[in-house]
Amino acid sequence: MARRKKIYEGKAKILYEGPEPGTIVQYFKDDATAFNAQKKDVIEGKGVLNNRLSEFFMTGLNQIGVPTHFLKRLNMREQLVRSCEIIPLEVIVRNFAAGSLSKRLGIDEGTQLPRPIVEYCYKDDALGDPLVTEEHIAAFGWASQQDMDDVLSLALRVNDFLSGVMLAVGIRLIDFKIEIGRVYDGDFQRLVVADEISPDSCRLWDIETGRHLDKDVFRRDLGSLTDAYSEVARRLGVLPQAAPTKPTLIN
Ligand code: C5P
Repeated sequence: MARRKKIYEGKAKILYEGPEPGTIVQYFKDDATAFNAQKKDVIEGKGVLNNRLSEFFMTGLNQIGVPTHFLKRLNMREQLVRSCEIIPLEVIVRNFAAGSLSKRLGIDEGTQLPRPIVEYCYKDDALGDPLVTEEHIAAFGWASQQDMDDVLSLALRVNDFLSGVMLAVGIRLIDFKIEIGRVYDGDFQRLVVADEISPDSCRLWDIETGRHLDKDVFRRDLGSLTDAYSEVARRLGVLPQAAPTKPTLIN
C-alpha cells in the first residue's frame, strides 16, 4: 500500500493528505506539551480520547448549523476533515477567569466574568503565541474585517453550544481556544471551525468539586490526565467504557 503523504506534524496531531482532493486525515498523537513545549510527555490513550471528544463536539456544532471542518471519524486515532487555510490566530473565549487572564489582570481563578471575553493570539510558537488586538490583525492583513465579524460570531456560538453541553453533565466551561479556517467553494470563501475541540484546548471544571478535567491536570501535575479526559468522555456518553490502556497479558 502506498504510504500517505505527511503534510504537517504539530505538537499533538499529524496531518496527512486525504483520500480525495480537499480532504485531510487528522491523526491524534498521545504527546502532551505545555508552556510552549517546555514540558513534554507521552500520555497513553490521550489521542484516542481527543479524537472521540473532538468528533463529538464538531458533530454537534455541524448539527446546529455552526460549520466545522469535520467530515467523519475514520478509526480510533484518525478523522477525515476538510482541508482549509487556517487563519493564524488562536481564538480564546473566556467565561470565568483562569490561566493567563488571571495572571495578566490579577483576577482570582474561577471569578465569573461580566460577559464572555474573546481574545486573539497570533499563532507563532517561536514568539509564544502573543496576545494581539484587532488593530494588529487588520494592519498585518491576517484577516479582513468581514472575517473578524464572522470569527467573533462563530466563537460566541461555539461558546453557547459548549457551555450548554458541559453544564448538562455538571461541568463548567471556564474557557477554550479554537482555530478558524477558510474553505473555498469555487470563488466563494466561508469560515469553519477547524483543528480540534478537546480537553487539551478547553478548561473544564467539575461544578460540584471544582476538579480540573482538562490539560491543566498535566500543566500543573494534578494527577492522571487520561482519568480526567475519560471522566469528561464518560459523562458525555462518548466512551461508555474506560479509555483503552495497555493490553493486559494473562499467562
Ligand atoms: O493559557 P490561557 O489561559 O491563555 O489559555 C486559555 C485557553 O486556551 C485554555 O483553555 C487553554 O487550554 C487554551 N489554549 C490552547 N492552546 C494554546 C493556548 C491556550 O488550547 N496555545
